[in-house]
Amino acid sequence: MNPVMQAHDIRVHYPVGGGLFGRKGLVKAVDGVSFTLRTGETLAVVGESGCGKSTLARIATLMEAPTSGELTIDGKPTAHPNSWRSLRLNVQMVFQNPYGSLNPRKTVGGILEEPLAINHRGDARTREAAARAMMDKVGLRHDQYGRYPHMFSGGQRQRIAIARALMLNPRVVVADEPVSALDVSIQAQVLNLMMDLQDEFDLAYLFISHDLSVVRHIAHEVMVMYCGRPVEHGPKESIFSAPQHPYTRMLLAATPSVDPRHRKSAVTIKGELPSPLNPPPGCAFASRCPYATSRCTAERPELRPFVGHTVACHNLETIA
Ligand code: SF4
Repeated sequence: MNPVMQAHDIRVHYPVGGGLFGRKGLVKAVDGVSFTLRTGETLAVVGESGCGKSTLARIATLMEAPTSGELTIDGKPTAHPNSWRSLRLNVQMVFQNPYGSLNPRKTVGGILEEPLAINHRGDARTREAAARAMMDKVGLRHDQYGRYPHMFSGGQRQRIAIARALMLNPRVVVADEPVSALDVSIQAQVLNLMMDLQDEFDLAYLFISHDLSVVRHIAHEVMVMYCGRPVEHGPKESIFSAPQHPYTRMLLAATPSVDPRHRKSAVTIKGELPSPLNPPPGCAFASRCPYATSRCTAERPELRPFVGHTVACHNLETIA
């Protein structure tokens, strides 16, 4: 499969403080992320709130520039914001909240035709035909063309948001927690729709989620992030069957099974994420890790290949 998005050592650092009594510092929201996203595949970026995954989504959709690092879309560099307007056509976003992301004053037809109108694609008649064709693809009825977002359920609204994201035939869809605001019973329907659309349109998904049970459904590859850095990255099957990093293991143990036959009480991850403002030296997970040694608090582990994954941990050989 062809790479459609490549990120190399992306860093997003925000200077903060420095007022009358403020202490200057640097928030390292994303600190050294690399990945390759291929046509027809889904890379899931997983972690707790505050791990940097939503910042990464903003970088991937060209909403903001990284502090350093390189992002290419379809082989084209994105370093110059002058190129963003045309490159953005290839990358669309689906947001978490289908209630807030749709204009309540526009009908479904108007919402779907808007990206075409803004980009001067076709005339009114062809835009309406394209909108109705996309409604078919996402399971909306033609008699719903003139209805407003408030007249739909949460799941239907997310179908509208997905349809809008596909109107310009993007290569990549960045989906930021796209089903976490939906009832569990609806989540699988929307995920199945996304998988069908991926096959039909050869889409690549950068799928941002805190929920491993959702990721298990849709991902091909999984990248686990902690405090702005990837700690484990590998194929979905082996991440779930043989997680290597202690944090990945804890996340999995804390994920309740969607299958009631295998349901057990979820384990909670003790301790809190360290502040991204001047994070501690060494491994950011050390304060929560049962395997931490003195080396862990002194020296930051870099990603290295280990049993088919890349993992950032000093003690893999001893904890395996
Ligand atoms: Fe735990 Fe040390 Fe590995 Fe960090 S480097 S995850 S503290 S064992």
